[in-house]
Amino acid sequence: MPMFVDHSPPGQCIFCRLVAGEIPSAKVYEDALTIAFMDIGQVNPGHVLVATKRHAVTLLDITPEEAGAVLQTAQRMARAVQAAFDPPGMTLFQANGPVGGQTVFHFHLHVLPRHEDDGMALAWPRKEPGAAVLQDHAARLRAALPAD
Ligand code: AMP
Ligand code: ZN
Repeated sequence: MPMFVDHSPPGQCIFCRLVAGEIPSAKVYEDALTIAFMDIGQVNPGHVLVATKRHAVTLLDITPEEAGAVLQTAQRMARAVQAAFDPPGMTLFQANGPVGGQTVFHFHLHVLPRHEDDGMALAWPRKEPGAAVLQDHAARLRAALPAD
C-alpha cells in the first residue's frame, strides 16, 4: 500500500506547490515545460521524478509537446544518473490513476536506478491469447487512433 495519496485540487497539489517553490525539493533540472527532482522515497539512490510544470493528472491529460519534453528530460536525467550513480540497470515507471498505482495526481515519470535484488517488483501475468486475439486487439486500437 502507498504511504499516502494526494487528492488536492489542481494548483494546490503537492507537485504544483513544489513547482511554485512553496515546499522544498531537491531540484535537479527544469526547463519551460518540465521539472526534475529527487523522489522523497528513494527506492534506490538517484531515484528522480520528472513532472510537467503545468498541472495535468495523467498521460491522457498532457499535450504532445509536454509528452516530448518529459521524455527528453527523462533521458537527460537517465544520463546524469548513469554518470553519477552507475547503476547496472534503470527502469522508467509512470503510473496513471489509482488502479495504475498513481498516488500523486500530477503527471510524473520515475527514473529509477536498479540493482540486483533491490526489492522493486511489478507482477507481469502473461496471458498469451494467440494470434487471432492479437489481430483483433490491434484492429480495435487502429480504429480508435486519434487523428493527428
Ligand atoms: P506515484 O506513486 O507514481 O504517483 O509516485 C509518487 C511519488 O511521489 C512517490 O514515489 C513519492 O515518494 C513521491 N513524492 C511525494 N511527495 C514528494 C515530495 N514532496 N518530494 C519528492 N517526492 C515526493
Ligand atoms: Zn499539480
